[in-house]
Amino acid sequence: MICIIGGGPAGSYAAKLLAKSHRVIVVEEHEQIGSPVQCTGIITPDFTRFAEPVIVNTIKRAVLHSPNQKLKLKLACPNLVIDRQKTDQRLASAARKAGASYLLGTRAEKISRVFGGFRVSTPKGTIKPRIIIGADGPLSTTAKSLQLYTTKSFLKTKQLVLKKRNENLVEFFFLKGGFGWLVPESGTMVRAGVAALNNPSEVFSMLEKKARLDTKAPVAIQGGLIPVFSSRGQRAKDNAYLVGDAAGFVKATTGGGLVQGLCSSQLLAKAILENRSYAYAWQRTLLPELVAHRLAFNALAKLGPAELDKLILRLRKIRTLLETESRDNFLSLGLKAVLRQPLLLSYLGPASRKFYKQSPI
Ligand SMILES: Cc1cc2nc3c(=O)[nH]c(=O)nc-3n(C[C@H](O)[C@H](O)[C@H](O)COP(=O)(O)OP(=O)(O)OC[C@H]3O[C@@H](n4cnc5c(N)ncnc54)[C@H](O)[C@@H]3O)c2cc1C
Repeated sequence: MICIIGGGPAGSYAAKLLAKSHRVIVVEEHEQIGSPVQCTGIITPDFTRFAEPVIVNTIKRAVLHSPNQKLKLKLACPNLVIDRQKTDQRLASAARKAGASYLLGTRAEKISRVFGGFRVSTPKGTIKPRIIIGADGPLSTTAKSLQLYTTKSFLKTKQLVLKKRNENLVEFFFLKGGFGWLVPESGTMVRAGVAALNNPSEVFSMLEKKARLDTKAPVAIQGGLIPVFSSRGQRAKDNAYLVGDAAGFVKATTGGGLVQGLCSSQLLAKAILENRSYAYAWQRTLLPELVAHRLAFNALAKLGPAELDKLILRLRKIRTLLETESRDNFLSLGLKAVLRQPLLLSYLGPASRKFYKQSPI
């Protein structure tokens, strides 16, 4: 039997893929799948390689803002805005249809290794699976209990759903201490949020000012942690595995982890079904992209307002590339960008930075 801790997208997708040939139980602490929502729900169409999301809006234009510059983009491949709760519920329905069963309102409090498998302790009783999958999000109990990878650094977020007339474009803001976004879910409603290593409320005030938000009567207030990816640590050990946010599989530049979460579940299911190495599979498929995002995140964190303005001016020169490449192909985007604008390399390290310091934009 396989026990999956967490009934979010990564857990339900793994459950669907594995339930065809194994007995699968998903343990989810909330009574209702997909609630509470802690997500903006903007994805690239790459998501549909794995599952059908519940789409509420499609966006074809984006604007990147630095303190004093902006860059407008026409997206060749429209971005999708999803109803996250309904999408999670759809994924869980598909898993149930494939034969998985759900224990809702049940928190896995402790997981330990026992002869022949594991013991999962919950307030409603004990489960003894042969295989355990931690899909239990950024603060994974599975990871902590079994000494697997645990995230050391988190982005803290604050998001408000606000009534706001808009032009149906995504806005992304480079802000001091973090980044922010406005994502329209309809012509009159936006999801406005920020992510920051420290003090998201302070960073949200900057977004409020910059985007002239009226935050007096929010429709919803959300938040949550986003793990900052690190390549260190084990995501698999003797029939215990981590997927999705529990494994830290999130793009550090944007905080997006839905596509990577589903991808990790697919890789794990294949590894279990074909008796192959999951560690090898995720390192080959996900690691290069996640490392590229992390390098870009580190570089961006060091830039002051003037350097961010200069960055936007440099990005203008590769506008077509930004309009046509998916951010879920970040490595390819980064390599092509550097080939066209070698000066972008200067952001990656102190040595190269010094070398390019005096260069024009
Ligand atoms: C504010 C915010 C905005 C975001 N916006 C985007 C976005 O626009 N696009 C995008 O791609 N990504 C976004 N993300 C990231 C995205 O939400 C995550 O990457 C995604 O939810 C990861 O899915 P998951 O299934 O791994 O984990 P989760 O969705 O966190 O699911 C884990 C589940 O496990 C349950 N659980 C945890 N511990 C236990 C336990 N001990 N026992 C039982 N159940 C447990 C939790 O309650 C939860 O239901 C955002 C994140 C935040 C915080």
